Amino acid sequence: MRAMLRSGQRSGLPPAVAAQWVLGIWVLANIVIVEYLFVTAGQGKNEQLTAAKFFGMHAALIMLFQLQLVARVPWVDRRLGMDKLTLWHRWVGFALLWTIVTHAVLVVLGYAALDEASAATTFLALSGVPASLLGMTAAALVIAVGTFSARRARSKLRYEVWHALHLLLYVALVVAFLHQLMEPSAFRSTSMAYAYWGALWVLSLGSLVVGRFVVPIYRNLRHRFVVEEVLPESPSVVSVRVTGRRLDQLSARPGQFFIWRFPGHNPWWCANPFSLSAAPDDRSLRLTARVVGDATASFGSMPAGARAVLEGPYGALTSLHRRQPGALYIAGGMGVTPIRSLLEEEESKDVVVIYRARDLEEAVLLDEIRGLADSRSWQLHTALGRSADGVRPFEPSNLAALVPDIAERDVFVCGPPAMTSALLETLRALGVPRRQVHAENFNLA
Ligand SMILES: Cc1cc2nc3c(=O)[nH]c(=O)nc-3n(C[C@H](O)[C@H](O)[C@H](O)COP(=O)(O)OP(=O)(O)OC[C@H]3O[C@@H](n4cnc5c(N)ncnc54)[C@H](O)[C@@H]3O)c2cc1C
Repeated sequence: MRAMLRSGQRSGLPPAVAAQWVLGIWVLANIVIVEYLFVTAGQGKNEQLTAAKFFGMHAALIMLFQLQLVARVPWVDRRLGMDKLTLWHRWVGFALLWTIVTHAVLVVLGYAALDEASAATTFLALSGVPASLLGMTAAALVIAVGTFSARRARSKLRYEVWHALHLLLYVALVVAFLHQLMEPSAFRSTSMAYAYWGALWVLSLGSLVVGRFVVPIYRNLRHRFVVEEVLPESPSVVSVRVTGRRLDQLSARPGQFFIWRFPGHNPWWCANPFSLSAAPDDRSLRLTARVVGDATASFGSMPAGARAVLEGPYGALTSLHRRQPGALYIAGGMGVTPIRSLLEEEESKDVVVIYRARDLEEAVLLDEIRGLADSRSWQLHTALGRSADGVRPFEPSNLAALVPDIAERDVFVCGPPAMTSALLETLRALGVPRRQVHAENFNLA
């Protein structure tokens, strides 16, 4: 069993590394099984169709891995974080897209060679075969969603539009499942193949349905969240405190986030992620949001007693990952929210906090952080001002001067993407081991 040292600090294999090993072994084991099934499934009618079978089987496997990555399995999410899992999901998605395209092209070329017809004629003929038509439909949906997910197209779409388009993948999933069911040569070639694919579909779909629907519905019925109060923190930032029943059994940790809905006040599809800005307790959960768009603009007028629907807790920016006795917490702008809740849980005396903001108005929750730092004798540095005016606390020499023993500390970081990536570079340059760096990106797409 992992030894607990002090203040949540742990020895042994870091949780994120353990999770990567488990996932790596799981992926490898499935690849080995699929290679075996491919070899035992027998050849296609020509070389192209044999290769098409190979890519088809791997496309099915990648699609099921995709489901597992977004199933929000708590053990994995707490160790790796939804931001990392979403990033992997993005790259695995592009791998799926190319595997499907290759499979489809090979099927058309294979049958065209068999029939001695052109690719266009074969394509039209195949669209009249139900199993092929289902495959084509699934492929078209994956290609469409993949195209809209490319960085350039994605940046032009509103989040809600992109998300609605992404939901088409559930349709693609059902169609792909039917296509697979009607395709005997690869998926039902032996009883072992049949059992393997059946079990993998049940496991992948099951974890998705449980993680995305059953658990959130159960939690909301159990805890019955309602808005307790709404407090302005600054002209553009508001805190919402939500209460509910049996919150001590919610197992949320400081630093984590929920996806919040306020049905009745906002449309039901309006679901936004916000970190806990105070340590959760058996009485309430608090979010603190900067007004940037429709959802956040509506928070200020939310009445006490409004119903809240929460999904979570999610995220890996927690003390589960503590390794060292000393810690450095770095918050930038609204990235202060998870840092503020983590600080409430922190027991070590050896803590440095750096809060980076443009000005005092942007530095929300600063009084609370100052109160915690004063009561526990921590060092608090505020870095207010613009980089253009020479305020650059995260340049390697400045950060090393501020925290000379930085490489011996756990470093928790949350801030705007540009600040976070520059800071991660600096931490690397200052020799802080990767396993001691814990960062949250306010970006899941
Ligand atoms: C893990 C995480 C934790 C966050 N914690 C905080 C926090 O504590 N305080 C805070 O002020 N902000 C936080 N954010 C950012 C916050 O979610 C967005 O600012 C908010 O959703 C904007 O919604 P809107 O309708 O007001 O604005 P919009 O104009 O609709 O959205 C602005 C941008 O916010 C992002 N966004 C919108 N909706 C979602 C969604 N459902 N899921 C993911 N991203 C979305 C998109 O990039 C979008 O372009 C967090 C984001 C993430 C991913």
